This record gives sequence, C-alpha cells and structure tokens, in this order.
Amino acid sequence: MDTMIRGTAFGSEVRFLAAYSKDTVEEARRIHGTTPVCTAALGRLLTAGAMMGALYKNDGDLLTLKVDGSGPIRQLTVSADTAGHVRGLMYDPLVELPLKENGHLDVGGAIGAGTLTVIRDQGLKEPYSGTTPLVSGELGDDITYYFAASEQTPSSVGLGVLVDRDLSVAHAGGFIIQLLPHASEATLDALEEALSKVRSVTDYFTREASPEYMMREILGDIKKEDSIELSYKCTCDRERVVKALLSLGRSELESLIAENRPVTLHCDFCNKDYSFEIDEIKEML
Ligand SMILES: [Zn+2]
Repeated sequence: MDTMIRGTAFGSEVRFLAAYSKDTVEEARRIHGTTPVCTAALGRLLTAGAMMGALYKNDGDLLTLKVDGSGPIRQLTVSADTAGHVRGLMYDPLVELPLKENGHLDVGGAIGAGTLTVIRDQGLKEPYSGTTPLVSGELGDDITYYFAASEQTPSSVGLGVLVDRDLSVAHAGGFIIQLLPHASEATLDALEEALSKVRSVTDYFTREASPEYMMREILGDIKKEDSIELSYKCTCDRERVVKALLSLGRSELESLIAENRPVTLHCDFCNKDYSFEIDEIKEML
C-alpha cells in the first residue's frame, strides 16, 4: 500500500510532504501501457499531483497539473483530490528514447520545453490557475520553479521512478519541502546545506522503501503529523457518463435510437468502457 506523510522539521520552520507511490505508478503503467520513459514521466507527475493535492487540504479541492511540451510526449495531465486519490493520462504513452549519459531515463527529453499549468478548483466559480515555463522538463525542477514563481514559496521538489528490468515499477515516490514564512536565517542556511546533499529519490528507496526514512535522511529530526493512503483512482462512474451522454442533446440521442446504434463511451483516465443499449437510451429520454 502506498502512503504519503506530512510533517515538519527544523522546529516547525520547514514543512514537508513525502510519498512512496510504487503501486500507484504501476497501476498507471498497467492502464496506459506506458514505455519506461513514459512510466517515469507520468509517475513523477502523479506523485507530485498527489502531494500537491494533500498540500492544499481544504476538503473538496481538486488539483490538476497539466504539462504541455515540445517533446514527443506532448501532453501530460494529472488530477488529484486532497485524500490521496490521483489519476492521469498522456498524449503518447509509447515514446521511446535512449537513456541519458548517467543511465537515467530521459524524461526531460521526452517532455521538452513548454509550460506547467496548475489548476486548483475549490468549487468556487473561477478555479485558480497558474502557468510557469518548464525549466528542464524533468518535472521536479519544474514544480520547484512553479512554487517559487507562482506561489512565492521557496520549495524543493524531488520526484523519482525506477523502472525494473521487466519494465514494471521497482520504486516510485517524491517529496516537497517548503520553507515557512517565519523561518529564521539559520534555518534557511541549514536547509540549504541539507538539500545540497540530497541524492536521487529512488536511491533512498532502494535502501528502504519508506517516505519516512527518506525524510529523516534528508532533514534529520522530523515531526510526522499524519499519513495518507495513496492510490490511482478514477472519478468516472456510470452516472457521470449518463450526464455526458445526455449533454449530446435530444435530437442526437433520437437519431442513435432511429439508427438502432448502441453507444459505448470510453474513459481515457482508466480505460473503462460504458456501454448503453438502445432501450437504455430510450429510457434516458
Ligand atoms: Zn475513468
């Protein structure tokens, strides 16, 4: 079972979220049939989405992360709620690129240059939305930059997905570390020092697959506030699909009936099909 933990460090002057998301990313791989570099790209964004969803903890908030890039993946979308449920999709899940010189999957190359858009829907009329340019396309850096530029919050974001030889997900996870406004100069220095020694996220997990271990290694003494279960979960259901079908309008549905054509609607986030027989369409009307 995947988990996220939330807590503070440096005498409550720093807050963090950390996630272990192997099963969640593996489920995304199963649904979308992703190649390794796509598993890594989608997995990183899913992990970031889940953590950012939990960061804005007003119940009912819905967070969407959208990446538009010049690379072959072209577009990635992830949406998350505040309770650790996350789902995502990408334009092309079959991209293959050579490994980088350091042996890592070339997520930056697969995404390219472009923008990151963060949309926070708090159920108000106008959802909040902020867009920043991608810094490297590696996603961790890009979200770090988003926090600085769009929310004026000094942060450090680490994301990682390790793909096994059999192409399944060996480890996945990440962290968001943020300096709180009341933090002292000394804390800032100590945090910078700690962050300068950070290794790759999956490096910690190969030692111990736990977000708590990773945060202790990075921040030293931590105070854990709570932990949240994390899972890939789509929000689609038959009722929503019926609504979508009805939105086609009466004449459209009547012509389906006239042509005796049953309808199947597909959810791209979870690959589920919803089929409707002619009798069911008649009933809706
Ligand atoms: Zn779905």
